[in-house]
Amino acid sequence: MAFADKYMGALSASNLLDDELHHKAEPLQAAALADRSARDIGALLHRVKYAGTVVQKLAHAVAAQGRAERELADAVRRKDTAREAECRQVVEANAATCAMAGSEAAAFRSLYVAWCDIVSKKGAERHWIKPADWPKIGHLAPALYRRVAEHSLVYYLDDVCKACDGTGATSTKPLIVCKTCCGSRKQPLGSAAELKISAYEAKLVAEMVGELLALEQTHAGVANARLRRV
Ligand SMILES: [Zn+2]
Repeated sequence: MAFADKYMGALSASNLLDDELHHKAEPLQAAALADRSARDIGALLHRVKYAGTVVQKLAHAVAAQGRAERELADAVRRKDTAREAECRQVVEANAATCAMAGSEAAAFRSLYVAWCDIVSKKGAERHWIKPADWPKIGHLAPALYRRVAEHSLVYYLDDVCKACDGTGATSTKPLIVCKTCCGSRKQPLGSAAELKISAYEAKLVAEMVGELLALEQTHAGVANARLRRV
């Protein structure tokens, strides 16, 4: 059984003190203890990623909100009042979804904040903005880090191919392999134009998606090893 399944099973077990269910609490404990290996967000990653569509809806809304807020600020700066009114409408329409209550939504928000923080540190360490360019464009760094964090997290949380619903085929008899994902079941990461970001940022997004997958794997591996020991 994949660690994600054990972990989600443990989360949904209602009374963790019950003896019969006691073993179900072990994945939770293992997840928490393994967190150090995954920058302290491993358990959150599992919890949020496998929580279902509520979180996916929220993640998309948060990313759309980030984009609308940036476009709004841009319209204000350009004194384009028509565009400004349009952007305000989008921001208001999205606000309700972004303010969604509930424990899954709260878990998503914690993950979002933690991931933005990790991405900012990585971006600074890896000189996404070259030291030579820092005096001129250094003030753009926080927005760059946030865009990369948002897009990578949204993709990571909802990476099932939309064309074939993650089955890898658009027909079974005869078997027709899905043209969108070529049978990989994974939604291709959007192009820079689709994501409305630069090619350079799209490359950084792909890199951070890889880091999220690696964090999940490391965390599951360490947590599983702990489970085998108990
Ligand atoms: Zn597909």
